Amino acid sequence: MKLTRPFTLRHLLILVAALVWTGACAVVDHPTTPHRALAPSVSSWSEVFARPPVIEHEAIVSARWNVPLSGMLDLDDPRAKAAGKTDAPTEIVLPVHVLRHPEHGVFIIDTGVTNPVVSFGLAELAFDYPIEIVDPIESILARETLPFGGALLTHFHLDHVLGLPGLPDGAPIYIGPGEMAARSLQNAATRSIFSEVVSGHGPFREWQRGSAVRIGPIEAAVDVFGDGSLWALFMPGHTAGSMAFVAHTTSGPKMFAGDTSHTRWGFENGVTPGTYSADRAENAESLLQLKALEAAVPEIEVFPGHEL
Ligand SMILES: [Zn+2]
Repeated sequence: MKLTRPFTLRHLLILVAALVWTGACAVVDHPTTPHRALAPSVSSWSEVFARPPVIEHEAIVSARWNVPLSGMLDLDDPRAKAAGKTDAPTEIVLPVHVLRHPEHGVFIIDTGVTNPVVSFGLAELAFDYPIEIVDPIESILARETLPFGGALLTHFHLDHVLGLPGLPDGAPIYIGPGEMAARSLQNAATRSIFSEVVSGHGPFREWQRGSAVRIGPIEAAVDVFGDGSLWALFMPGHTAGSMAFVAHTTSGPKMFAGDTSHTRWGFENGVTPGTYSADRAENAESLLQLKALEAAVPEIEVFPGHEL
């Protein structure tokens, strides 16, 4: 069969322009509601960690995965080059940090993975590497005896929200400012999966930078429970609304960096993530704040986003 009008370079350019126009979409259309923080009860990290700790912390591997190192580490950074870092599939974990507060119940930082065929099957289709389930979120929560308090998302990337369908109905879910509204081309590919993981959940509670305070080297933080035991830190850069968390736990001070640093090497050497970060310069500023906090509180245990 002969084409009456051949497909020319001009047609191709029009097609690409149309795809770019329609493809730069929001992560997913899901409502958020502003979450106003309580007034902080302390004003310095030394005051925070001088109080008797009440939160119990457990770090759990929910899944294992492989991703290219170039996504998680800026391989163009001179420090990465000097260390001989090159791109290769790299094994990572998808952690869930369980925080048990005697009054407020069980909170989790990120959600790991759930085990239903549908969302997991879609997730597998979306990536070059399959995710290996180790401990799905349903099993993690079934072991808890305190009531479920909520999920604290470090950010809305797929490898942090695949456990959302396994959370109890009506579970409070907390997210950083502007995270759900960020628009990118990449979102077009993952939008249907995101729609699936959020379906059935109510509006996400969005941290408000306007109600945050400066505490030590951290420019903006909120005292989650108003008792100084858990802090949500605004760390934009990896994504617009990336958050990190600091907890005063019975096993010492802990910092949960999220993907402000995926790797321990990146954190220790101050090298930002690579292609996975939306704004590397902003990410670098946030990472500097976290490193300054570690310097100020040397006993703090740092958990990067994808290593335990
Ligand atoms: Zn991640």
